[in-house]
Amino acid sequence: MMPSPSIGVFALQGDVREHLATLKAIGVDAFTVRRPEELARCDALVLPGGESTTMYKLAQTFELFEPLCDRIRSGMPTFGTCAGMIMLADRIEDGIVGQETLGGLDITVRRNAFGRQVDSFEDDIVFDGFGDPVHAVFIRAPWVEEVGPGVDVLATTPWGEAAGRIVAVRQGSLMATSFHPEVGSDDRLHRYFVDQVLQS
Ligand code: GLN
Repeated sequence: MMPSPSIGVFALQGDVREHLATLKAIGVDAFTVRRPEELARCDALVLPGGESTTMYKLAQTFELFEPLCDRIRSGMPTFGTCAGMIMLADRIEDGIVGQETLGGLDITVRRNAFGRQVDSFEDDIVFDGFGDPVHAVFIRAPWVEEVGPGVDVLATTPWGEAAGRIVAVRQGSLMATSFHPEVGSDDRLHRYFVDQVLQS
């Protein structure tokens, strides 16, 4: 049997429960992370969707910001979804004044990029390496404006005015999606991340 990695879900804000449920359902030892001691137990981490400005403030208040930066910098596999993608980005457009990110991914993200009219939407997108498309749920989602040379683009949007926008990336041990793979019953992205963790 494959060893089961210990994967924490950053739990000061966001859709923590959905990630925990998906990870547990695929056999992962998954638990919430609100304190540095819990972070220390993690082989890997998920940064959920939610509100990146609040995550940033709470991470500072709970003295998790620096420890998170350190672990990510030292190679802890981390998967960020939506607000979690923003938290992992080295550069941010349309952040609030003073908003900082944990960084690690050599990308520029634009917050709330898809605009008011399409605040939230769903679509099937082609995900690199997957046979069938992924049904992606976007909620006030960011897109990736720019990627550095070491970043692999895993998915782009196929439709309309916002066609060709980058919505999933990977760089070394870090991966991020603009959408919410934890919503719904498709666990392929979490499995993909766990495979990465087991190989790291
Ligand atoms: N717009 C949110 C932010 O800036 C992200 C939305 C989400 O995670 N669903 O953090």
